[in-house]
Amino acid sequence: MSTLEIKDLHVEIEGKEILKGVNLTINTNEIHAVMGPNGTGKSTLASAIMGHPKYEVTLGTVTLDGEDVLEMEVDERARAGIFLGMQYPSEITGVTNADFLRSAINAQREEGNEIPLMKFIREMDSKMEILEMDEDMATRYLNEGFSGGEKKRNEILQLTMLKPKFAILDEIDSGLDIDALKIVSKGINEMRGEKFGCLIITHYQRLLDYITPDKVHVMMQGKVVKSGGAELAQKLEEQGYDWIKEELGIVD
Ligand code: ADP
Ligand code: MG
Ligand code: MG
Repeated sequence: MSTLEIKDLHVEIEGKEILKGVNLTINTNEIHAVMGPNGTGKSTLASAIMGHPKYEVTLGTVTLDGEDVLEMEVDERARAGIFLGMQYPSEITGVTNADFLRSAINAQREEGNEIPLMKFIREMDSKMEILEMDEDMATRYLNEGFSGGEKKRNEILQLTMLKPKFAILDEIDSGLDIDALKIVSKGINEMRGEKFGCLIITHYQRLLDYITPDKVHVMMQGKVVKSGGAELAQKLEEQGYDWIKEELGIVD
């Protein structure tokens, strides 16, 4: 079992404190959802774990099996087994999707132990089939002209091929129609297991109709203010966030 542990994380953007002490522990074999109103710091949390230079960690720790993630360079974080949906540049002309994916996989492997080309192709073909992606998605330049839905599917393709220990998926469901949402969910559900943990950041409950989270956390004003099981997401869908604000005496 692996553990990603976020402890008392404080993050500033341009001198303004956005995260005010986030605590969150995710083990492999668990899917956690982070929900919350807009502007409460959900994406900031993802960006800080990713190591985005604009986000300054002023206090607290992020560790992967006890190793200090915040000390790692961005590519080291990926090699350590953390997948961040947003780490990929939005468009790269001249690099095909397949080439990019193969170099990303090989970057995680020891030199001399690169993935054999045929094995890579077989695996990619089968994953693309599961994700109902057009064959030509493999040979198109990375993200160039991809529709919103194609980008999301491609992100899940990367996820299923790279097989990270932990994935942090920020708003993977935004802009997806219901069919694409089901397919993306299928890809994430396929990853479920002892070697995989996931943090799904979402504004809406509907993704969680297809991916049942083990734990649901509510973020407000830069903190995790409430945690529960899948039923918490259901309650938020029905009742919104006001009852939590009342319960906790949060004024905004
Ligand atoms: P959420 O993802 O929960 O909607 P964000 O993490 O995107 O929230 O934003 C939290 C707060 O940080 C907001 O007040 C937002 O305006 C601010 N913020 C986010 N990114 C930046 C940035 N790059 N520069 C300045 N302020 C930012
Ligand atoms: Mg936002
Ligand atoms: Mg956000």
